[in-house]
Amino acid sequence: MNHAARLEALRHVLARERVDCLLVGARANIFYLTGFTGSAGLLLVDESRAVLFTDGRYAVQAPEEAGAAARVVICKGGIEKAALARAKGYRRVGFEASAGYRFYQAAADGVGARRLRARDGLVEQLRLVKDEQEIARIRDSVLLNSRIFEETVPSIRPEVAEQEIAAELEYRMRRAGAERPAFETIVAAGPRSAMPHARAGPRPVGKNALLVLDHGAILAGYASDMTRTVFTGKAGERARSLYEVVLEAQQRAIASVRAGVRCSRVDYAARAYIRERGYGAYFPHSTGHGLGVEVHEAPRVAARQKMPLPAGAVITIEPGVYVPGFGGVRIEDVVVVREQGAQVLTPTPKRLLELG
Ligand code: ZN
Ligand code: ZN
Repeated sequence: MNHAARLEALRHVLARERVDCLLVGARANIFYLTGFTGSAGLLLVDESRAVLFTDGRYAVQAPEEAGAAARVVICKGGIEKAALARAKGYRRVGFEASAGYRFYQAAADGVGARRLRARDGLVEQLRLVKDEQEIARIRDSVLLNSRIFEETVPSIRPEVAEQEIAAELEYRMRRAGAERPAFETIVAAGPRSAMPHARAGPRPVGKNALLVLDHGAILAGYASDMTRTVFTGKAGERARSLYEVVLEAQQRAIASVRAGVRCSRVDYAARAYIRERGYGAYFPHSTGHGLGVEVHEAPRVAARQKMPLPAGAVITIEPGVYVPGFGGVRIEDVVVVREQGAQVLTPTPKRLLELG
């Protein structure tokens, strides 16, 4: 792991941000900087040291996971209290704005409000560009996720409930070595597939229905995320043409990806085509999102995001069209932003799968 390099990169940011130390509380950020996977911790980073404050439950785990990157302090009287006592020694104490008001109050009491500096997204900004080791981990997670999809497809039959299919996907994930699903698995059939974030329900998927499956795993700390839409039967003209529109939009968006291209441009590539085909009103979400140690992270691939994509960013491309009362189609892959274009990590084929 390149934890030392990541901490070093953060130190440059701290100097630029004019803070003498940063209190990192977001779990994903602590994991990214040190490898610690515990649920309770505060990491203090200054110009030369990193100290991880955690509690007795992690007395063995924390040094094992994070010992190479940070000095570990096991706190008996509260993690926050101990970390803030240490932070008192600095003139300008940065903290993550995402820590929230309660933390701010404790910190104001602990070190004095005047010395506090709220800073937003400093570590998230570093996480935006993945190193090759991270990309390899994401690829492993993506490959696992695709494999369990292919293993699950044969068990999809009209009489099987959405949540049974979701359970099957998640069971296979765990069996294949994933720590957990990256998010609540979506399995939505027929008219329910027109809800972009439908939960898997108790109803059978039924015959001749569009079926959206959106799932992801966390493997070795890194997320995957894939959507495929299949048809339970022989697809009619309407379903088929909806599918072709989304597939073409997705391919256009992927083709537009390259280092330096604005996020909004990638979103536009999908959105303009969907609009042109008359479905503009039925594409209510953004085209994609960054993914890494979290399934949703920077950047957002959305209409108003002018940020140019940096080489090494990893994003999803997932346009969808949702026709109320009929059904929806979404197709989602994970791609790496390279200088020359998109490197698609997801190997699962994208032709419309007609089952049974
Ligand atoms: Zn997804
Ligand atoms: Zn996604």
